[in-house]
Amino acid sequence: MKVAVIGGGLAGLTAAAYLSESNRVEGVLYERSPHLGGRAFTYEKNGFILNYGAHAIYGMDRHDLSDIAQELGLTFESREVDKRKVMYAKGGRLISAPLNFVNLLKTDLLTATQKVRFVGEITSIIAQLHKMKNYPTLGDFLRESKADEEIKELWVHLVCSNFFLSPEDACQVPGPVISDYYHNLFLSRRPVNYILGSWSVITEQLKDKIERSGRFQIRLKDPIESISLDGDRFLLRSKTNETAYDRVILAMPLQQALRLLATTPWGPPLASYEGNTPTEVLIYDLGLREVVARPFAYISDMDHKLFISDVSATDPSLVPQGGQLLQGVAYLTDRHGREEEYDRYLEDRQEKMESLFDRYYPGWREAVVVKRVSKKAMVTSVKNVLGNELLPITLPDVPFYFCGDGCAGKGELAERAFSSARAAARLVLEEAQTPLPVR
Ligand SMILES: Cc1cc2nc3c(=O)[nH]c(=O)nc-3n(C[C@H](O)[C@H](O)[C@H](O)COP(=O)(O)OP(=O)(O)OC[C@H]3O[C@@H](n4cnc5c(N)ncnc54)[C@H](O)[C@@H]3O)c2cc1C
Repeated sequence: MKVAVIGGGLAGLTAAAYLSESNRVEGVLYERSPHLGGRAFTYEKNGFILNYGAHAIYGMDRHDLSDIAQELGLTFESREVDKRKVMYAKGGRLISAPLNFVNLLKTDLLTATQKVRFVGEITSIIAQLHKMKNYPTLGDFLRESKADEEIKELWVHLVCSNFFLSPEDACQVPGPVISDYYHNLFLSRRPVNYILGSWSVITEQLKDKIERSGRFQIRLKDPIESISLDGDRFLLRSKTNETAYDRVILAMPLQQALRLLATTPWGPPLASYEGNTPTEVLIYDLGLREVVARPFAYISDMDHKLFISDVSATDPSLVPQGGQLLQGVAYLTDRHGREEEYDRYLEDRQEKMESLFDRYYPGWREAVVVKRVSKKAMVTSVKNVLGNELLPITLPDVPFYFCGDGCAGKGELAERAFSSARAAARLVLEEAQTPLPVR
């Protein structure tokens, strides 16, 4: 069976790595840019190792990446962010983040009674008895909950930080999604980890595995420009050639997949996914020549919904000797008003971020060696909120497979890219075991 994978991000690489294990499959992975990784692209600048996205893994021991690593024989290390140094800032106060029971007991965020109540909520989420799963959204649950405002605020803040969402959007996350997600995370023994050495440690191994198989090729700078039917095969026209395939996996952000298929017979069945909105953030990376301050590993500003990770406190291999790598992320609300208004809003988010740096990392401006600000970075191509619908891996009337962080799958962010890619590859591999059905 000849298979094309379109997209060389985490999803495309994962799908192709699984496919490359079968001697019944051969194929090509097409990537339009000069490098692999997509939004998990890792690059080096002046000795600092930066990711376009970020490489925090939430709930490592229960994350699909752990299973995938085992199945594909990937090796990497990860280190847990020091929980004692994860702080929340609220109304000028610094508070220990209630990430586990020890921190929960220490935190000033909640009173003793509220702590008991919150422990009860965690326990019922773990036991899958929490009422949350019966509510359309977190906001609906909170409106009816009799809990104190502090507990409600904590719920919203947790969802903001794990889903990279503004508070308004956090309240729109479906109850069952929250219930499942925190069931996993509260049971995890490793809630926040960084992959040591960055995403490239994973993407390099996936690439090697694909190439070593001898059955799969990787073509960089070769975007797929159109797909059409060629008898019972699919003709893919890329920048450099035209090739027919038995099966095609689209491993790209939803918006790009819809654009590619818009003028094909498969555009109309996908039309209902056009209204989906992505999750976007403002991201502010700073490579500093020296450690200007190290008060925490992670500080989350509850008042302004921004956070800064001292990435190099957890993974010193990402900086040159003595340097410091800080990554600021500001959650964004959807575009509103006129363009100039939204631009002003983004300016304001950037200023708030810089004030947070000023407050906890004085002297950063003089120590900057590398700076990267992206005002609208797409974290996931489909925001997991009510009104949006994640794209299924297969759909009636569309003969392709889809994967990526805009697709249905386990978890959030990159976990969804990994889990949907594994599921898509499995379906193709199942088909490869049996003679190809005639369409
Ligand atoms: C700022 C930021 C912070 C993040 N932080 C985290 C985090 O801490 N933890 C986490 O788990 N996740 C995080 N993420 C999310 C994570 O990076 C993404 O979920 C993941 O990288 C998405 O992978 P993907 O393969 O689905 O899509 P992509 O990475 O977008 O890959 C799609 C690929 O397809 C290629 N392509 C598109 N069209 C074509 C075409 N026609 N022909 C050929 N190639 C094509 C693109 O060039 C791209 O390389 C973050 C993302 C961002 C932006």
